[in-house]
Amino acid sequence: MNQKEAITRLTEHGIKPSVQRIAIMQYLLTHFTHPTVDDVYRGLCSKIPTLSRTTVYNTLRMFSEHDAAQMITIDDHRVCYDGNVEAHAHFYCNRCRKVYDIFDEVSPLLSCKEITGHQVSDVQLYYKGVCKECLEKESGKETDN
Ligand SMILES: [Zn+2]
Ligand SMILES: [Zn+2]
Repeated sequence: MNQKEAITRLTEHGIKPSVQRIAIMQYLLTHFTHPTVDDVYRGLCSKIPTLSRTTVYNTLRMFSEHDAAQMITIDDHRVCYDGNVEAHAHFYCNRCRKVYDIFDEVSPLLSCKEITGHQVSDVQLYYKGVCKECLEKESGKETDN
């Protein structure tokens, strides 16, 4: 499942579809959870015993260089990848460390091709804070007490 989609995504972006590349792209296209290199490696290493962490790291970097995936650098310690290459913003929860997709609210900012005379090729927009799930959990705790 999805293998065709993964191959298409690779070839459309000028990437030769090797077995490992297909598997990594397939993982991205089935896990829209903004996985890190480690997440992808752990998810695939049992299926592909020859896979190394370095290969995953290099392959994901290469995907983002070819715009076949988005590289998201929330901070220096956490780089994650997104198989969704449509322009969207991200919200990072400081509590549970989940990364949420934000679409409509910020679309004019994300789709701009020019800003004060500069030509835009890439837009990265991050919000940080506490997500609604964590807020709900916390307010639930308070009423318990
Ligand atoms: Zn949270
Ligand atoms: Zn995303």
